[in-house]
This record gives sequence, structure tokens and C-alpha cells, in this order.
Amino acid sequence: MSTRRPHHLADMTTTEAAQAVAAGTVVLLPAGAFEQHGPGMALSTDLVRAEAVCAAVAAELSGRAVVGPVVPVGISPHHLAFAGTVSLRTSTFVAVVRDYVTSLHRHGWRRVLVVTGHGGNNAALTTLAQDMLVDLPDLELAWTPLTSLAAEEVAALDPPEVHGHSGEAETAQMLHVAPHLVHPDLLEPGTTSLDQLDRLGRVARTHGKPALTLPYDRLSAIGVLGDPRRATADDGAAVVKAITSRITSFVEDWLAA
Ligand SMILES: [Zn+2]
Repeated sequence: MSTRRPHHLADMTTTEAAQAVAAGTVVLLPAGAFEQHGPGMALSTDLVRAEAVCAAVAAELSGRAVVGPVVPVGISPHHLAFAGTVSLRTSTFVAVVRDYVTSLHRHGWRRVLVVTGHGGNNAALTTLAQDMLVDLPDLELAWTPLTSLAAEEVAALDPPEVHGHSGEAETAQMLHVAPHLVHPDLLEPGTTSLDQLDRLGRVARTHGKPALTLPYDRLSAIGVLGDPRRATADDGAAVVKAITSRITSFVEDWLAA
């Protein structure tokens, strides 16, 4: 039997929710994706990581933050060539998050932080945050991706020249937070060197150039960038700890501001 999570809005009564509003809590919204993560990891990987970090941040902040409803499906058109992937259009995703935030605002919450485990949601969240300045001027909407908050820790994993989706850092995090969703015997290296990327893929992955969005099957036949076999749960724990402490500090500063 699972236990009641004290900081999760979903597990609270409406009375407890009203008390959380009155206490001036921040709402953390875990956003994910429903997309392929190679042959060895679950489709829910991005949501599972975002939820784990939000739960850890809420626990650190003991009573100053609550974890709100999850956004389980994200913007993943670039992964649709792989079975199981389900994607929202950018406009649908923005509409869903806007409705979550507007509902929370109606009850009195004024600070909401979206924590996205999926980089494909980033651009839409920027757009939504801009629109919300017009729609609800007394709301402060923040958002953050996960892995870029732990750039140093991820770099310390010494990845090969190509890394990223379903690679070392993401797999390590999953081995730490949800090992039951990783099949170590099925992990396979994807594209790990620039030479393996086709001409267009190389152009799309080069920084300091115009953006070019490509489907993942053109970057890696198995949808993986990097070598997830190199991932360890210890590395994942270090990355999750760094992300958790950076988000916690942000919320503490935000509440004190
Ligand atoms: Zn992912």
C-alpha cells in the first residue's frame, strides 16, 4: 500500500489545499514527456525525473512548497518516429499549463514554478510565461529545465563528444530515482561521435548557428545520443542532488524577495 505524500496537492483535501494557499506556498508543477528513451528506458522518463526532483525540493522546503498536478505529456514531435511516443502540439501544451496555472491562481496561489524534465517544452514555457504577464499580472510564473541546472555535474561524467537524450546523464538520474524503469541489459549506445551524425544532424547540433529542428530518427537510429551504458546510480544521485539544491535555493530566494 502506498503512503500519503504530505507535500503533494493530489493527496491533500480541499481544506488542506486552502491552508497551503494561506501559508503562501509556491506550487511546483512537474512537466514531462511521453516519448521514446531508447531501447532500455521507459517512455515516462522525463516526467519521472521531474516528479522526483519536485518531491525532493518540496521535502527540503518542508511546508513552503507543494507539488501540483503533473503535466504528463509534452511537446515531442521529433520523437514520433518511435513507437509509443505521444505528443502535444505547442498550442495544446501551452493551453494545458495555462489552465493549470489559472486554476491555481484562482485559489490564491501567486507563485508557480514549472519543472520540466523535457527540453522540448522549454520554448513553449518561455512563450507562456510572457503571455501570463499580460493575462495575470499578479502571478509570478517561473520555469526551469532539469539537466542544464547541473551542467558541472553532467560535464564531470566525461561524456563523449555527442551526448544528450537518453545518454549518460539522463540514464544516471533514472538509475537513481526509478531503477525499475531502466533495463540495464537493454541499454545501447546511440550516436556518440560527430562523425556518426549525418551532415544535417551536425549542422543542427552546432551551437552559434540558426536553429534547425530535426526528427530524432535522423540523429540516431535508436533515438539515443551518447552511451547510456556508462551511467551509474551514484552519478545520478549527484546530478539529482545538485538540481534539487539549485531549485530549492531559487525558491528560498523567491519567497524571501
Ligand atoms: Zn528525456
